Amino acid sequence: MGHGGRILHFIDGRETPSADGRLFDNIAPATNEVVSEVARGGPAEVERAVAAARAALAGSWSGTTTEERAALLDRAADLIELRGEELARIESRDTGKTLAMASTVDIPRAIANFRFFAGAIRHEETGFHHMGSALNYTLRKPVGVVGLISPWNLPLYLLSWKTAPALAMGNAVVAKPSELTPGTASILAEILFEAGFPAGVFNVVHGFGPEAGQALVEHEDVLAISFTGGTGTGRRVGVAAAPLFKKLSLELGGKNPTIIFADAGFDAAVDSALRASFLNQGQICLCGSRLLVERPIHDRFVEKLVSLTKELVIGDPAAPDTFLGSLVSHGHRDKVESYVALAREEGGEVRCGGTRPDLPAPFDQGAFLTPAIITGLPAGCKTATEEIFGPVVTVHPFDDEAQALAMANGVDYGLSASLFTRDLDRAHRVAAALQTGLVWVNTWLLRDLRTPFGGVKGSGLGREGGKWSLDFFSETQNICIRLSEASE
Ligand code: NAD
Repeated sequence: MGHGGRILHFIDGRETPSADGRLFDNIAPATNEVVSEVARGGPAEVERAVAAARAALAGSWSGTTTEERAALLDRAADLIELRGEELARIESRDTGKTLAMASTVDIPRAIANFRFFAGAIRHEETGFHHMGSALNYTLRKPVGVVGLISPWNLPLYLLSWKTAPALAMGNAVVAKPSELTPGTASILAEILFEAGFPAGVFNVVHGFGPEAGQALVEHEDVLAISFTGGTGTGRRVGVAAAPLFKKLSLELGGKNPTIIFADAGFDAAVDSALRASFLNQGQICLCGSRLLVERPIHDRFVEKLVSLTKELVIGDPAAPDTFLGSLVSHGHRDKVESYVALAREEGGEVRCGGTRPDLPAPFDQGAFLTPAIITGLPAGCKTATEEIFGPVVTVHPFDDEAQALAMANGVDYGLSASLFTRDLDRAHRVAAALQTGLVWVNTWLLRDLRTPFGGVKGSGLGREGGKWSLDFFSETQNICIRLSEASE
């Protein structure tokens, strides 16, 4: 954090204001208070950050060994852990999420991301192809200066998920965090510098997407863009990056189905569906916002889900029993509320929630919304097919597997799905037929960082995780050596 409640850019190892001194307000959505001012960057700051990154690549950073980089990543993880409480508090303040979520999910995952990629490069193997008359081996080289653009829902979690592999492979980074959640990115920059990453290796430019983000994507010296955010934004990023032949990774929106067959373990399925619906106020790209329930158990399922949902505690994000904090902004709450209104127009019945809760000051000013369950909507309507990204789910009955699959696949998105059944054959069959990058069976959000993560259709391009991240953040070079005639 900058001095006097200011969050500045971090460029070339230093906190840096914008050239024109412009600032914008950082608002805590749970209270609607301005908590800091943030430097508002644009093309000039991106230019400075890219120059610093290029200089770092031309300097000592490019000579580091794998073991040196792994040790730096481990040190970064240790320092994040040391400052874990502070980071969790800032994450909760900027996003409105509960402190419990920030301190048990967001920050531990950021630590894990650095440790994981330190381990990944220590154990990495590169390719070797023997031809008889020649042998081929594959070198991995850093791409160069890479741009990381991240969203507000899991700010440090997702930024570190890109930063750790980018640094592991020896790149220099310019990061553009969401303008709604700038706090933890700046602390990460301090931490990485303190951990020993040279000046210019990790830079942060704050600001708005069309100014700072767009300038980063359009900069010709930024050779890869890893973007996580909305599908519409991802399309703009793709259009700007394509003519420059940048490497591009796009992790975009979702409208993920939770499919519950009548033979599923009922209580476990309801509990999992509840979490998938409303964890982080439904603002996780993997949230299951469409519940498809086999007809024989549909009514009982809805009844149980509604009664558990009504028990969820909403309010003060720092109170230990709170399950739902506030949404990320008042503007976002307006958008989510508009979908509750649309659901009514489309003929849906709001079984619970979708209202502003009555909370004591200062939370009466916050962007809170009670969790909503909507039934009676056709599966193809707008409410049931567009990403809402809030605590609003729709429930739809189905009669057989084919209908469940048609509903599950009948959207423009394809990030994840979860299905609940005790029938192993069906689990395999349905999982393979789902048009999504990820499928969970009898669980949700169980993540192994080695596995490929990403979506199909409008949910994105490419995969992150394990070797997929290492591939993205490196250029491979094949070297073919002709063997002497004697050994042919
Ligand atoms: P967003 O698209 O509005 O913003 C994401 C980032 O892009 C922000 O940093 C923003 O400033 C920047 N940006 C905006 N316009 C830009 C432009 N023209 N050029 C470059 N950068 C630009 O998304 P959001 O509202 O912050 O996040 C919510 C969305 O993110 C949801 O759709 C959600 O599903 C998605 N998401 C996806 C994943 C995933 O892994 N697939 C994970 C989390 C969130």
